[in-house]
Amino acid sequence: MAAKISSPALREARHRIAQLGTLGADLVAAIDRRGTRVIFSSLISGGFTLNVINTIFMDPHLQDPQQADLLACTLAHECSHVQQGYLVDSVQQELIAYQTGAKIADALNYAYGKQLFAPFLALDPTREQDLETARQHILALAGGSVPTRTIYSSLPLFQPTGAADNLVAALRQLSAAGLAGLQALRRPG
Ligand SMILES: [Zn+2]
Repeated sequence: MAAKISSPALREARHRIAQLGTLGADLVAAIDRRGTRVIFSSLISGGFTLNVINTIFMDPHLQDPQQADLLACTLAHECSHVQQGYLVDSVQQELIAYQTGAKIADALNYAYGKQLFAPFLALDPTREQDLETARQHILALAGGSVPTRTIYSSLPLFQPTGAADNLVAALRQLSAAGLAGLQALRRPG
């Protein structure tokens, strides 16, 4: 199976990631194995993954060819969510995804991305104090985006697993964010 990607910019980003050593190959393998759909959605700022419907949503502003490196880093971040495979998000899961984006920025020698994501590399996803710090970094990156700030403020620090990682909890997390992006789920493509 292959990831379901029709946009040329997203196909190119997937191709670039796949070239970046074991890390990149494993990220692309994760979305290929599941046949994950990757689409642009104007309702999304940056990127957003919903494993419950096996879909990655990407910000259409990243289609600009000048943003190709940021597109690759953001797609790598979202592939990390697919690779981690949970229905419910957490600060721990986000930290691992941001560290993935930082490593891809390094591999691309993408100066802005290295600077943007470097603070995450110093943090340990298993330490509570580092997860609190990661949440502050994530909120800083969210800037003025109210839905993004709302969802990251309410995320559990540690990853819920097993019975706690379920559909109802995932939907509760989304509705807590008041995420307008749910509309996008009905869009084909
Ligand atoms: Zn994320």
